[in-house]
Amino acid sequence: MFKRLLPLALAAVVATTAGCGFQVGDVGTPLTNAPTMKPGPNTGAPNAGDPPPAPVQTAPPAPGAHFSDADVTKEIGDAVQVIDTYWSTHWSEFFTGSYTPPRVVGAYQADDPHRPSCGGQLAEAFNAYYCIPEDYIAWDFQLMREGYAQGDAWIYLVIAHEWAHAVQNRLQVNLVAEANELQADCLAGAVLWGAKNDGVLEWEEGDTTEIGTALSAFGDDYAWTDPTAHGDAIQRVTAFGQGRTEGVRGCLAQD
Ligand SMILES: [Zn+2]
Repeated sequence: MFKRLLPLALAAVVATTAGCGFQVGDVGTPLTNAPTMKPGPNTGAPNAGDPPPAPVQTAPPAPGAHFSDADVTKEIGDAVQVIDTYWSTHWSEFFTGSYTPPRVVGAYQADDPHRPSCGGQLAEAFNAYYCIPEDYIAWDFQLMREGYAQGDAWIYLVIAHEWAHAVQNRLQVNLVAEANELQADCLAGAVLWGAKNDGVLEWEEGDTTEIGTALSAFGDDYAWTDPTAHGDAIQRVTAFGQGRTEGVRGCLAQD
């Protein structure tokens, strides 16, 4: 099962409320803005000064088990820290320039009239997205809750995927795959398995199985899992697995 280890010391990611903006960016939005980052040499320099993290075991929910909204919220906070830590630690192994995280607007309720908007469009039910013009990520709390009922791995997938869209938006356009949704799943696999290699997260085969099951179960019922926009469950899990085996570089478009 899935077990989290305490992440390394982190800068807190500040959640802020969204203002208005432009287009919600999760569904096949072309990334045509000017690139600012170029691939750098792989230094492979380990972060030797960091102390080893102290292991902390979570109690992941079994399918159908009772859990509270607070459990979901805590898991979201942990996932944000793990993913931000991965990118801030490893960015310079892959890219030039400094890493800057997206803003984390985080959870919204789809019936809240004051939920985030992007480009004047209010956030959708059962979706998670990266808002390109405002550089923030957000997700419907119910999408997280429903996925968490299948296992806590879901929350890590959703956040790592949206974070990957923010990363895509920081890259030279030639590094961004045309199939940018599958590339985001690939990068999610690279990050979560990479965090496991760093000793920050314990990610196991069962966790990948768990997200495949959830992707299949939700299908086109949910915006975030709509196969026409994102690929089907098999394609998505395959892309995630490619990220595991090939890492961040293996997810980048080749030209
Ligand atoms: Zn996406």
